[in-house]
Amino acid sequence: MCGIVGVFNKDEAANYVYLALHALQHRGQEAAGIVSTNGSEFYIHKGAGLVNEIFNKKGIIESLKGKIAVGHNRYSTFGDESIANIQPLHAHFDMGQIAIAHNGNIVNAISIKRQLVNEGAIFNSNSDTEVIIHLLARSKKTSFIERLVEALSNLKGAFSLIVMRENELYAVRDPWGFRPLSMGKLDDAIVFASESCAFDLIGAEFIRDVKPGEIIVANTDGVHSFMPFKKQTLARCVFEYIYFSRPDSNLWGSYVYSIRKKMGQMLAKESTVEADIVIPTPDSGVPAALGFAKESGIEFDFGLIRNHYVGRTFIEPSQSIRNFGVRLKLNPARDVLDGKRVVVVDDSIVRGTTSRRIVKMLKNAGAKEVHLRIASPPVISPCFYGIDTPTKKELIASSHTIEEIRKYSTADSVAYLSLEGLKKVVGDTGYCFACFDGNYPVEFDR
Ligand code: AMP
Repeated sequence: MCGIVGVFNKDEAANYVYLALHALQHRGQEAAGIVSTNGSEFYIHKGAGLVNEIFNKKGIIESLKGKIAVGHNRYSTFGDESIANIQPLHAHFDMGQIAIAHNGNIVNAISIKRQLVNEGAIFNSNSDTEVIIHLLARSKKTSFIERLVEALSNLKGAFSLIVMRENELYAVRDPWGFRPLSMGKLDDAIVFASESCAFDLIGAEFIRDVKPGEIIVANTDGVHSFMPFKKQTLARCVFEYIYFSRPDSNLWGSYVYSIRKKMGQMLAKESTVEADIVIPTPDSGVPAALGFAKESGIEFDFGLIRNHYVGRTFIEPSQSIRNFGVRLKLNPARDVLDGKRVVVVDDSIVRGTTSRRIVKMLKNAGAKEVHLRIASPPVISPCFYGIDTPTKKELIASSHTIEEIRKYSTADSVAYLSLEGLKKVVGDTGYCFACFDGNYPVEFDR
């Protein structure tokens, strides 16, 4: 995960980046940063926490001067949470200054880094993104674009990147196309962002997705596209559709909302059940629950109310009060649930902890039966391409049958969307399904 955004050729560019980072907050809540340039100086502000906590002091945004800016919301998948790992990363090298924002995970970063360190390189952070800066700085090519192509040709895995120099802005998507990245237009300015919902907020017009394997450069000569990398089999992350992206984003040609709704419809086709109401686990289960209700003809209702002031950043204080976690976020609407046979729809089960707590909560609130319906297949394998998933051992479906998961969750029945059903909704090629089938499209360092 991680959200990235870049603005080229706009007065108060940092202000637009700041606003766009708000729209991408769901992609990372650990830390955020903005780097801007006025054509000679680079201005940097980064911190831990949510976007509005980091940039809320008067004068911060104003200090980020210039007409080009790049920003990043961090959700760590590689590297620890120290300040040196907060992006955009900034460096000086023989061609001037550079700032890079990265969404994804470079799966051969460890071996590249090992080699660079053996040759004398010094690393500031333990982020996989820093290897790109080293490769750029060491390249003997004469132009920046050639250096960028040479550096990135060494990389395997997921990298949607925004790279800022004094007078230009680059957007890159890895040849497998794992993570999203889109291009938009705001008057004379060019904007790049992880998701199109960021364009809506700042009033930019969505132009198109950055293509897998494409480098786009925006500078005073205009906007130019290059396709310099060896073609690879497309492996867009299907979990972006299931959970990560915002429902109002247009991702790879479809709105996430309608895809999720169709997943819910397909789930109902495959495993409907006699019940009185369908409720979502808010917010991520809402579109799928609407689809389930539509297909099954069972009434949709809100049986769980979400507290919107609790983000995912909540740190559970201690083991003894750990169970407050779900209660802090969700509370049952007793009058909706009392005496009812309830279908509860969620987008996914990872460890199984959330489902178990929710079933308990619904039963305690008077639900007569609770049927758990999951709008994606069982997660059996960890992600190495930019999603923070636990180890295989911690993934409940990697070692338990659906009946065992039902028993653990204490639900009356459990059903997942089948992989075939998911493929009927999104299409059966062009995606990475590794978390569901264990087929990893790119080999990784172990
Ligand atoms: P659990 O089964 O308790 O580990 O959590 C599953 C819930 O977390 C699901 O309802 C999803 O909405 C959400 N979820 C799925 N994948 C992730 C992830 N990689 N990071 C954070 N939350 C996630």
